[in-house]
Amino acid sequence: VYKSENIHRVLLKLSGEVLSGKKGIIYDETVIDSLTDAIITVHNQNYELGIVLGGGNIFRGGSWKNKNLNRVVLDSIGMLATIQNSLYMAEILISKGIDCAIFSTLAVDKVVDRYTPQLASSALEQGKVCFFSGGTGNPYFTTDTAAVLRAVELQADIVLKATNVDGLYSADPKKDKNAHFISSASFEECLQKRLGVMDLTAFSLAMDNTMPIKIFNISQPQMLIEALTNAETGTYIHP
Ligand code: UDP
Repeated sequence: VYKSENIHRVLLKLSGEVLSGKKGIIYDETVIDSLTDAIITVHNQNYELGIVLGGGNIFRGGSWKNKNLNRVVLDSIGMLATIQNSLYMAEILISKGIDCAIFSTLAVDKVVDRYTPQLASSALEQGKVCFFSGGTGNPYFTTDTAAVLRAVELQADIVLKATNVDGLYSADPKKDKNAHFISSASFEECLQKRLGVMDLTAFSLAMDNTMPIKIFNISQPQMLIEALTNAETGTYIHP
């Protein structure tokens, strides 16, 4: 069972698409305004908050249409997109008076500090909202994997994965009338029932390191604090 009182250090994963809202532009200002407000609510309740942003609103090397191009280069473009997103979101938070730290696994001198677990831990302890950009720093990975990796390394209590659905269902609710909502599932059950939580690399990293995951709907950003404090909100994936 999900126990909110055991949660102090949180790793939030937001895909790039969340930042574009329904308009499909790189940044939807209205969405980012309410997202940053939601982040501030969490911050004000004294959670330590690390954020991994995807890059899909700008560029996704993994699913790029022209397969004749070098995947390693395409993935670098995707990783750079996550740095841009992190700089932008942090800048909005800073303009709202919130202390932030932005780290990158890739060296982009003068733009962002290099990630080290020591610097990241101390920034979290100081109550800064921390952005971990650049993904894992390696091609052929996803930001979901980066989120789990940072969570494990920094001993977060949970990975919160924001999506545009309420959580996991036994089947696709759009196609199957009997589909029911799953409020919690063990890693094993997810594998047995083929519930798609994250890509398999991210999922197995979480499973191997007993890092719980909560999947919730961010279409209404105020659900972020709900997902943290309310056991009933979202789907809880646990060891
Ligand atoms: N990427 C990568 N290594 C990583 C993380 C991301 O190469 O560790 C690249 C990859 O090209 C990916 C893109 O960055 O397609 C954007 O990341 P992702 O697709 O995870 O973003 P999201 O879908 O969450 O917006």
